[in-house]
Amino acid sequence: MNYKYHMPTKVFCGENCILNNRDVFKSLGEKALIVTGKRSAKMNGSEKDVKAVLDAIGIDYVIFDQVMSNPTIPCAYEGAAVAKENDVDFVIAIGGGSPIDAAKAMALIAAQDIAEDDLFSGDYQKALPIVAVPTTAGTGTEATQYSILTNDQAETKTSIASELIFPTISFLDAKYMLTLPLTATINTTIDALSHAVEGMFSVRASTVSNALAMKSIRMIMESIPSLLEASEKDSIEMLSLSFRERLMEASFLAGMVIAQTGTTVVHAMGYSLTYFKHIDHGRANGLLLSEFLRLAEKEQPELIRTILTAMKLNTVSEYKQLMDQLFGEKEAISAEEINQFTEKAMGTKNIANCIVKPKEYDLVEMYSVSFQ
Ligand code: NAP
Ligand code: FE
Repeated sequence: MNYKYHMPTKVFCGENCILNNRDVFKSLGEKALIVTGKRSAKMNGSEKDVKAVLDAIGIDYVIFDQVMSNPTIPCAYEGAAVAKENDVDFVIAIGGGSPIDAAKAMALIAAQDIAEDDLFSGDYQKALPIVAVPTTAGTGTEATQYSILTNDQAETKTSIASELIFPTISFLDAKYMLTLPLTATINTTIDALSHAVEGMFSVRASTVSNALAMKSIRMIMESIPSLLEASEKDSIEMLSLSFRERLMEASFLAGMVIAQTGTTVVHAMGYSLTYFKHIDHGRANGLLLSEFLRLAEKEQPELIRTILTAMKLNTVSEYKQLMDQLFGEKEAISAEEINQFTEKAMGTKNIANCIVKPKEYDLVEMYSVSFQ
């Protein structure tokens, strides 16, 4: 037993939790920067609720609504400039992982001068307080100290990891997720599953993180039949508010897992699929996870048995069949791409963070079989 547990975010869960807890904003300051993507926050009611509360308690705000998926470093600097020009006291991030991660970087850059070359250095003194309102259930960023940005210089996605960017407050209201399209729902759900599973293979896994991971895995796997049915009927209306709430909680639990453990092999391999082939983050992880489980089974059969039991499955092949149904036709990947992505993944901290130490040929095999 030798680990640290740290999760400083105050989390409010439930329908209308923003409207019902408006006073908590008062301690954060007098002016906020609201950070969103281009459209969804305006359509799903989340931005409206936040504005209503700020108006009611007299907090001024400016809006930066230009965050793209897989946010870039220039986007983070652009938002931070708006925060500085308007002298805001705190940041409110609304959306999927992309706006929330971008807002976390903005909160750091706005609080001190950080040259672009030093952005991932870890050498920061302060950050503006961050409020997170997730509208997807996958990244767990509402409960992590990570901001993951597209890094064109390194041709991959790179994490800022700092306890300064744990959100001060997160609001988990699944009603905003009712508009989330089916593909995005599936991809984000499997991102969360990947966090929970990878966390159990981390060198930093602990009693606490494993307990959270097991619960998250169970909740997510119980949701798969409904996701498959909704997929067959091509209907998001089938996915009720209580169903969305369970996904949101499962993702929150998995976020608390990776806050303690970090991610491992699957995320290391997935980043190139997103950077070079524009495969959505959750889908990239989902496509790779089965082959990771197969590899891990050779070295850690008992851990795999524990995970399969939580999944209520008997074999990794059964799991793969479910994922094949969820993800449908796969993208094509060339041998040249596989070699390039393998080289990139082998050098990452995420691989060093895993108790299973894959060799280069293991990664080549995993990429090849995952896309067959
Ligand atoms: P996302 O990129 O934030 O959003 C994907 C799409 O879904 C966007 O088009 C967005 O539209 C739309 N959307 C979001 N919420 C919606 C809703 N309620 N209804 C309808 N549409 C909605 O996707 P994500 O998977 O949540 O986040 C992915 C990012 O998180 C990646 O950059 C990944 O690397 C990162 N990540 C971070 C962590 C962490 O610990 N920090 C962990 C894992 C992954 P708009 O653009 O219009 O909003
Ligand atoms: Fe992820």
